[in-house]
Amino acid sequence: MSKRLSADERSAALPAPRSHAPRATRGGARRRGLSSAEIQEIFRRFAAANPEPKGELEHTNPFTLLVAVVLSAQATDAGVNKATRALFRKVDTPQKMLALGEDALREHIKSIGLYRAKAKNVILLSEKLIREFGGEIPADRDALETLPGVGRKTANVVMNIAFGAPTMAVDTHVLRVSNRIGLSEGKTPLAVEADLLAKVPPEYGLHAHHWLILHGRYVCKARRPACPACLIRDICRFPDKTL
Ligand code: SF4
Repeated sequence: MSKRLSADERSAALPAPRSHAPRATRGGARRRGLSSAEIQEIFRRFAAANPEPKGELEHTNPFTLLVAVVLSAQATDAGVNKATRALFRKVDTPQKMLALGEDALREHIKSIGLYRAKAKNVILLSEKLIREFGGEIPADRDALETLPGVGRKTANVVMNIAFGAPTMAVDTHVLRVSNRIGLSEGKTPLAVEADLLAKVPPEYGLHAHHWLILHGRYVCKARRPACPACLIRDICRFPDKTL
């Protein structure tokens, strides 16, 4: 016969309840953490407002996506699109990129910040893709991170958009919005990524980072967030909401 558990044993066997205790904020005030139900509601609203969010970098295949993301570091998506539109019409494989060559690539992308270093990396990563991956984009974040100019954020974007992996690519928008809403108190992309992976309900994992980027770009802007027009204003924990 199975042994009956005492109340204490039953309680010890349960997972520890998630703490909603207030946490310290910038000004020393305390703010309450988001509950699981509130996080669920945030993403339910994002999904209802924009069921199929898309990244804004133009591309035609995984290779051009990878190149576009590499070029987008410290540049706007609109600026990258302007430069890559003509480029990607004729260059959409690592082989064609090598045939184009570094000098011609520099000409195409010279309107983008850090274009010299980026052109060098795009040529080097094209060489490596041909040499080590048969000219294909590997569907593996660790392998992607071995490519010149490809960091964790870029690898997460490619894994998400090209291969449908529920990764959390944390850029400046995602970091700021996650901090303000109360989704994460992490101060580094890696810390915020870990919080999002742990807290975002799985059914929203694929699109979560897109919703957060778009929210940060168009509503929860760095200088003056548009709080009156924000669809999660009642849940957001930011203490300095605009009126
Ligand atoms: S209420 Fe304001 S601070 Fe909070 S998420 Fe919305 S726009 Fe950002």
